[in-house]
Amino acid sequence: MSNYTQFKCNGCKRDTEFLWLDATEMPDGFKLYQCMDCGCVGVKNIVEAKDVDDSDVVRCDDCAAWKFKDVSCYTCQLIGEYDANI
Ligand SMILES: [Zn+2]
Ligand SMILES: [Zn+2]
Repeated sequence: MSNYTQFKCNGCKRDTEFLWLDATEMPDGFKLYQCMDCGCVGVKNIVEAKDVDDSDVVRCDDCAAWKFKDVSCYTCQLIGEYDANI
């Protein structure tokens, strides 16, 4: 077993290991990752990690995005901020 988090990579299109990069200014539930295979760097929703326990992850009632059940929905927060700025 490795200690790396697995995600589906947007670059090499495989379920592969990702290195977590330390980044500030990341919204709750998101982290910056680099693919150990192709080097592709991206922001990943940590609920999409392959080793997250399914029981902790739910669909948001409002927008149907994946989220952790004990945190508020980031997608809804974004929509709320957008609405507030109109
Ligand atoms: Zn990759
Ligand atoms: Zn939502």
